[in-house]
Order: sequence, then structure tokens, then C-alpha cells
Amino acid sequence: ALTAGIVGLPNVGKSTLFNAITKAGAEAANYPFATIDPNVGMVEVPDERLNKLTELIKPKKTVPTTFEFTDIAGIVKGASRGEGLGNKFLANIREVDSIVHVVRAFDDENVMRENNREGAFIDPMADIETINLELILADLESVNKRYTRVEKVARTAKDKDAVAEFNVLKKIKPVLEDGKSARTITFDDDELKVVKGLFLLTTKPVLYVANVSEDEVGMPDNIEYVKQIREFAATENAEVAVISARVEEEISELEEEEKAEFLEAIGLSESGVDLLTRAAYHLLGLATYFTAGEKEVRAWTFKRGMKAPQMAGIIHSDFEKGFIRAVTMSYDDLIKYGSEKAVREAGRLREEGKDYVGQDGDIMEFRFNV
Ligand code: GDP
Repeated sequence: ALTAGIVGLPNVGKSTLFNAITKAGAEAANYPFATIDPNVGMVEVPDERLNKLTELIKPKKTVPTTFEFTDIAGIVKGASRGEGLGNKFLANIREVDSIVHVVRAFDDENVMRENNREGAFIDPMADIETINLELILADLESVNKRYTRVEKVARTAKDKDAVAEFNVLKKIKPVLEDGKSARTITFDDDELKVVKGLFLLTTKPVLYVANVSEDEVGMPDNIEYVKQIREFAATENAEVAVISARVEEEISELEEEEKAEFLEAIGLSESGVDLLTRAAYHLLGLATYFTAGEKEVRAWTFKRGMKAPQMAGIIHSDFEKGFIRAVTMSYDDLIKYGSEKAVREAGRLREEGKDYVGQDGDIMEFRFNV
């Protein structure tokens, strides 16, 4: 499963947020095969469609799909110089598919700021820069190593792949040297293939999470820190989510009903953990399909662009191996017509083969050989 790693300087609210994620966490009984790792928080992906399907079909059981957040520990500053805990920090980031970068944007005199600079108690831009710089330096080291190796081959042997890699490296190197992340560069499809093989840190998609004070979370557009973060994120093709870790901590203790009341009182329509989950899901290009039977209505995560057999393989590898076809309808059609039978009568029930590219909201039934 694709995962997002939570990073940030000390004292920005990472642990507070991660604890809230763990508490809001998925009901373990629904996911018996999930691995248990203390650094991983598994949450259910909020999806209104699943509630609607449950009302319509009235199954015995409803199972949401899940998403995993990894708490990335370790020391940030000096990480790229290869000191022990810093090294671990970079290695952990290398393993995740996207980065959730928590940035302090709340004022609180009682909470020390790691990056303290005179005259600026809170400075989201400087904080972002501190972490990004370590990742940029680590990438620059990888790029420089490849550069020296590939340059010779590209020049002398006229090796096509080496030339392609060299051209990509030539494009990335000056950007990193300029202190910018490689995700600011636009690559074409061929270049992207090369980029993937470089396993860089600053090409991973990022979600900046502005951790704002509990009294301001209901009106994020008025917060100067948030404006700054949004402006910066735009230059990086990154996304921004605004939450209050404090609020998340508080609501993680509440019952469902109290939760909704509490959120409404502070001007929010959903919890920050839900918001973050949907944003991270979107960031990774993930989508949801459903299986819908009397016994169970269930949401499954797939990657946009996946074809029907791969989608089947998410449920069980045998479904992929023995894939014959998928009987499919869209969620919208099922809601519109009211039953599978009615969808069929309207001519909207489809039989799809192995080249079918899945769409968000598909309701799938797989036919396969065993
Ligand atoms: P970490 O070092 O990034 O894991 O930060 P922590 O989660 O331990 O938070 C550091 C301190 O900031 C703790 O005392 C938290 O209670 C406090 N804190 C975290 N989020 C908020 C927030 O939204 N508002 C306020 N006022 N304090 C917060």
C-alpha cells in the first residue's frame, strides 16, 4: 500500500497529530491482515458514497478502505551530512511514497521553537527551508555521484540510455544547487522514467500541513502564515492542508456525535485527520472502487490508471491471475437507477475486459478462473 511519511521540525505538533491519527485509527477487526508497526497509523478513508451505498443495499457489513501514515522519527538538522539519526531520517523518507510536512503556524509562548531566530518566534518559511535543504543536499549528493559516472559513458560510448540520464541530471543539478526541490521541474514522460530510477527525495509529492492555533482553524484564509505556506507550495506544485493538531487531539477523545458538534462549534465540516487523509490520497493519485453485495459493501483503494485485472489483484492475487472480466457500473448510475437490475435494464451495466482502465467510483464484480 502507498504511504505518506509525516515529517517536521521538533515542536511543530507532529506527535500530537500522529497520536490523533492513531486514535482515530481504523477498526482493527476489519483489517485482520494489516501489519502492526508502532510508527504506522492506519486510518479509514472518509467517503460519503460508502454511506449512501450502505443505505441503499443494507449489507451485513460495511468496510471502508484505509490509508497509512508513517511517523518519521530522526534528526533533521545535519541529516544530509550523514550523521547517525539524520541518516535514518533520510532513509525513512526514501521508503515512503509521499511526504506530509508539518509546519508550525500557531502562536504559543509556552512552546519553544527549535529554529529560533531573533525577532521571529514563528517562521514557517524558515522551518520549511530547514527541512527541504537537508533533502535537497542529500539529492544533490546522489545526483553528483550519478553525474560523474554517467557523463563518461554518455560521451564516449554514445549509449542512448546514458545520454538520456545525463540530460535529466543536467536539468536537475542546477535546480538543486539553487536550493530548490526537484519537484519544481517539469519533466516529460520519457524524462519521468529516468527520474523515477534516481530515487530522489525532493521529487516525492508533498503535502504541507499548516498546524494553526485552535481559535483560527475555522478561518484559515485570514492567517498570514497560511498565506505564506500556500504561496510557497504553489511554486513547488505541492498542496496545503490547514489543521490544528490540538483540536485533533481533543476530538480523538470524543464519541462520534460529540465530535460533529465540536467541529461545528469551531466552524469545521470535518476533522483535520479526515481532511489530511483525503488530501494525501489525492496527492498520491489514488481512487476508490467498490464491491457491493448483500453481505458486504466495501471500498478499495487503487491507483488511477490501473486496469481491471490489477484492480482485482488488490482483493486477492488469485483474482488477478485468473481474471476473466469485470461486471461494472458507476456509483452514480447505481444511485440514479436504484438497483443493479434497474442499471442493467437501462443498459448501463458493462462487461469490461483486461484492458479496462478503472474509474473512481466504479462498482466492480470480478469474474475469474480458480
Ligand atoms: P513534535 O515535536 O513535532 O512531535 O511536537 P509535539 O506534538 O510534541 O508538540 C509540541 C508542543 O506543541 C506540545 O506541547 C503540544 O501540545 C503543542 N502543540 C501542538 N499542536 C498545537 C496546536 O495546534 N496549538 C497549540 N497551542 N499547541 C500545540
